[in-house]
Amino acid sequence: MKLVCVGGGPAGLYFSILMKLQNPEHDITVYERNAAGSTYGWGVTYWGDLFDSLHGNDPASALAVRQDSVRWRDGVAYVRDRRTVHRGDEGFAISRRRLLDVLAVRARSLGVRLEFGCEITEADFPGADLVVACDGINSRLRARHSGHFGTEVTVGNNTYAWLGTTKVFDSFTFAFVETAHGWVWCYAYGFSAQHSTLIVECSPETWAGLGLHEASQAEGLALLERLFAELLDGHRLIGRAEADGGAQWLRFRTLTNRNWYRDNLVLMGDAAHTTHYSIGAGTTLALEDAIALAGALRGNFDPETALARYQQERTFALLSVQSAARYSAQWYENLPRYVDLAPDRMFALLGQRHSPLLPYVPPQLYYRINQAAERLEAFRRLKRWLGPRLARTLHSRA
Ligand SMILES: Cc1cc2nc3c(=O)[nH]c(=O)nc-3n(C[C@H](O)[C@H](O)[C@H](O)COP(=O)(O)OP(=O)(O)OC[C@H]3O[C@@H](n4cnc5c(N)ncnc54)[C@H](O)[C@@H]3O)c2cc1C
Repeated sequence: MKLVCVGGGPAGLYFSILMKLQNPEHDITVYERNAAGSTYGWGVTYWGDLFDSLHGNDPASALAVRQDSVRWRDGVAYVRDRRTVHRGDEGFAISRRRLLDVLAVRARSLGVRLEFGCEITEADFPGADLVVACDGINSRLRARHSGHFGTEVTVGNNTYAWLGTTKVFDSFTFAFVETAHGWVWCYAYGFSAQHSTLIVECSPETWAGLGLHEASQAEGLALLERLFAELLDGHRLIGRAEADGGAQWLRFRTLTNRNWYRDNLVLMGDAAHTTHYSIGAGTTLALEDAIALAGALRGNFDPETALARYQQERTFALLSVQSAARYSAQWYENLPRYVDLAPDRMFALLGQRHSPLLPYVPPQLYYRINQAAERLEAFRRLKRWLGPRLARTLHSRA
């Protein structure tokens, strides 16, 4: 097969690896508009089940990804001057640049052609069996047929900036700071021995009230460093280098498509769907798309059938994640509803932000119901654990 991937992000690179592993005879080219090693963003999070899935598909790249990842278990929240710690599931983070390097090296070693510095505007590749539009949220290939794809975009209310810092956090850290113009908060996590990601968010009123809408990148970073001084402990915030487009305040766009393919053109990763960054899932979903598309194409040379199967599988798998992402984004947009709760309660509800029920139940009541449900679950687990042991002891005495 002759395959073309437009976009050398996680989706395109991983798909090219999987297809070469399936059949080294496949002729695969990945076109990336940026130079090699140039990308936006800092570290990206993922969870253990992604590693298992990557390992099942390509142990070599999975092990390289794991080797360059950092891990954390605790979540820490700072609200005003109070600190709350919560022990959660083990999470991982890797530098986005490092992830792309690992995937690019692996793809090249398998014989994939990587063409950097190549901006593609048309899906016009004579002889290609399949053209994969994995060119991100602003996909130009998708935009040419947005009517056919049924693209819908919803713009979030809050503004955010994806920053880096030299402060290395060893826990997943949230900090909520009250200013004269409203709340500003950040989520921060380490992704290497030198750097952490720090995503700052606030309402548009707070953003304008603080003057961030008219501040230069340097002025904006200096203001944020003052607001988060205690958290940063003397470390600097880092914006984007000009070559990467400069630090930007954005409003998150949630994107969906009714159809994911048109003739031999198929959407993958952020070009097909986005989920709010507060659930840290976009890269995982992009990699899972690649796995699903490669799976649907395995031994199936009727593209129509393979692409229909891919679309069906992924739209179904995405339903719960997209719902979680929407509610999570809303939780932050409704921060005043939760922020004055006792810090441990507020943090507990932060952990419940994906819940479709939470927006409709008074927060204090929701917290109590959730606590009761957790106690009940703990009691059930204790019964499941104790029951057989008790039975065995009694039985052996009888
Ligand atoms: C603030 C923020 C935080 C995030 N944090 C996380 C996280 O912690 N965990 C997580 O899993 N996800 C996270 N994400 C989401 C994640 O970054 C994306 O979902 C993921 O990168 C999607 O991968 P992709 O390959 O589909 O697209 P992209 O990574 O966007 O790659 C697309 C590539 O296509 C190239 N391209 C675009 N147009 C063209 C063209 N015309 N010709 C050639 N090349 C082109 C681009 O240069 C780019 O390299 C975050 C996103 C944001 C905004």
